[in-house]
Amino acid sequence: MEFEPVIGLEVHAQLKTETKIFCSCSAKFGASPNTNVCPVCLGMPGSLPTVNKRVIEFAILAALATNCKISSKSIFARKNYFYPDLPKGYQISQYELPIAEHGYIIITDGDVSKKIGITRIHMEEDAGKLIHSTDSFYSKVDLNRTGVPLIEIVSEPDIRSAEDAGAYLRKFRSILRYLNICDGNMEEGSFRCDANISIRPKGVESFGTRTELKNLNSFRYVENAINYEIDRQIDIISEGKQIIQETRLWDSDKKITISMRGKEDAHDYRYFPDPDILPVIADDLWIEELKAKLPELCDDKKDRFIFEYKLSQYDADFLTNEKEIADYFEECAKLTNEPKQSANWIMGELTALLNTKKIGITNSPISPKQLAELINLITKKVISSKIAKQVFAQIAETGKNPKQIVEEKKLIQVSDESVIAAIAKEALSENSKEVSDYKAGKKKLLGFFVGQVMKKSKGKASPHAVNKILTSMLAD
Ligand code: ADP
Ligand code: MG
Ligand code: ZN
Repeated sequence: MEFEPVIGLEVHAQLKTETKIFCSCSAKFGASPNTNVCPVCLGMPGSLPTVNKRVIEFAILAALATNCKISSKSIFARKNYFYPDLPKGYQISQYELPIAEHGYIIITDGDVSKKIGITRIHMEEDAGKLIHSTDSFYSKVDLNRTGVPLIEIVSEPDIRSAEDAGAYLRKFRSILRYLNICDGNMEEGSFRCDANISIRPKGVESFGTRTELKNLNSFRYVENAINYEIDRQIDIISEGKQIIQETRLWDSDKKITISMRGKEDAHDYRYFPDPDILPVIADDLWIEELKAKLPELCDDKKDRFIFEYKLSQYDADFLTNEKEIADYFEECAKLTNEPKQSANWIMGELTALLNTKKIGITNSPISPKQLAELINLITKKVISSKIAKQVFAQIAETGKNPKQIVEEKKLIQVSDESVIAAIAKEALSENSKEVSDYKAGKKKLLGFFVGQVMKKSKGKASPHAVNKILTSMLAD
């Protein structure tokens, strides 16, 4: 029997506000333990929460960017459970009446676009952090993170493969980063994801029993874990057994999922409206003001790049995924008037360089101005594209400007025909056998002669001129 996976994702995104959601403590990551705390986020009796308006604004921006319907009235609720990282004994979240519902985003898989539904977006506070150690009998609690604002985005079970789940997450991360409301750092936990997975026989409408996967802190883990879980479920069903609804953890060392606990139901949490917090009223005027603040998002930017710079779908997709890359590209394209060449350099050499250095484009050792200067040297035929690759490496290493490197290293392209002819003559006389073969009809040897001349000129001869001169010399 053939099976089809059904996947729904829950994303938790930490919002980049200065302060926490219900108190004025700093929400910054990385402070020494238990320094960003106060009676409110420590859950002291008698302390009262006040909603941070910025959090609501950020949630509305996320909702607008994902085509959601924004609730004119939404309420906070208490989700009750006990855990040592939760001092109040409940988490303030939203249950009935979340800030936004019924949205969607578009993901692309090659040339195919897919619409993935968003069930709801709600605001909530983060819990603290437990630090477990293997060499002591106790764990430590750091409450700096309690009360840091989160939005949770729940998708419809519209995703049908691990790859699409990855595409959905990348797209979401990109949207939140464009909005500048979340830094999207999966390793630091500011962008987290739980994956719900079930399988069903192909063609069947109803859903199977799902499991929920946690502990997926990289895109690769998400995809690997989902694929593992799909196979595990297929094996169980094929043996005639049943899937147990439960929460499972991804073990990234063993590359397996393991059972963590039975899945709790909503009623286990005894949700009820938080009596200490007033309803959030989002009127049309406020929503319109926020709409006006929306930046150009990746989908629109991608369409513009295709139209304005005549880029392919693939290139435009790559370059608009991250706003910083898009900005880098645009600066380069404007300074060179060579959008395609700029795209090629950014997607090729520059990306490879950043990957080996494991850094992002904002920390690139080569600025857009320097790359543009390099491209201009190629367009003006001052250097060949082969030499340009050497210069590129030199810029990265020394930080010097391309022109300076080309002058210092005497890399200027040789286009002087008499100079090239002299080298060509030498190359031909050293390879007389190949010359007679060529003349006897083995025209493919032209490439060999070009290679010889390029080598002798240390890559500096203009390949175009070399081709032309060799062809005419060999024709005699
Ligand atoms: P909970 O809060 O208990 O995790 P929700 O109803 O909020 O439950 O759903 C969580 C996620 O599970 C959603 O993204 C939803 O799309 C997904 N989901 C629900 N049913 C299934 C299913 N049968 N298979 C896969 N995913 C599912
Ligand atoms: Mg869940
Ligand atoms: Zn506080």
